[in-house]
Amino acid sequence: MHADPAQLLRQRGIQVTAQRIAVLRAVSARPHVTADAVADAVRAEIGAISLQSVYDALGMLVAEGLVRRIQPSGSAALYEDRVGDNHHHLICRSCGRVVDVDCAVGAAPCLEAVDDQGYEIDEAEVAYWGRCPGCQGKSRKRKPSTKQKQKHHHKQRSRQHG
Ligand SMILES: [Zn+2]
Ligand SMILES: [Zn+2]
Repeated sequence: MHADPAQLLRQRGIQVTAQRIAVLRAVSARPHVTADAVADAVRAEIGAISLQSVYDALGMLVAEGLVRRIQPSGSAALYEDRVGDNHHHLICRSCGRVVDVDCAVGAAPCLEAVDDQGYEIDEAEVAYWGRCPGCQGKSRKRKPSTKQKQKHHHKQRSRQHG
């Protein structure tokens, strides 16, 4: 995180609490972290906090645009503090490891729908699924693939103009 968590909260007019600061720090320290892991980190830092309070804080931070939530299929929701750059993710099918990859174009939506059917599209959610280098090394029996298979999962979100 580039800025001080307390300052970030203040800038948005959000009440600064020890819990919120600890949650922001936890997300910042471990990108693509689960709510459970955030709860563990917060407990280690400031003591008891309920999982519900962690979810509440995360939900608020996501709504305020300070935290981004991604939900790979088959995984718990993951949280990160890299926001606003429309970056995408590489996800390993074997071990679930998630890493960032810059947006191919640089701005959302970076993919044109073949037919937008009248929707005003503002985002294409892209996840590249495959196997990470570590998992490729583990399974030598398999044929060496010339290139990792990439699958794009696109979820178009629309916004209606009133
Ligand atoms: Zn892996
Ligand atoms: Zn990310």
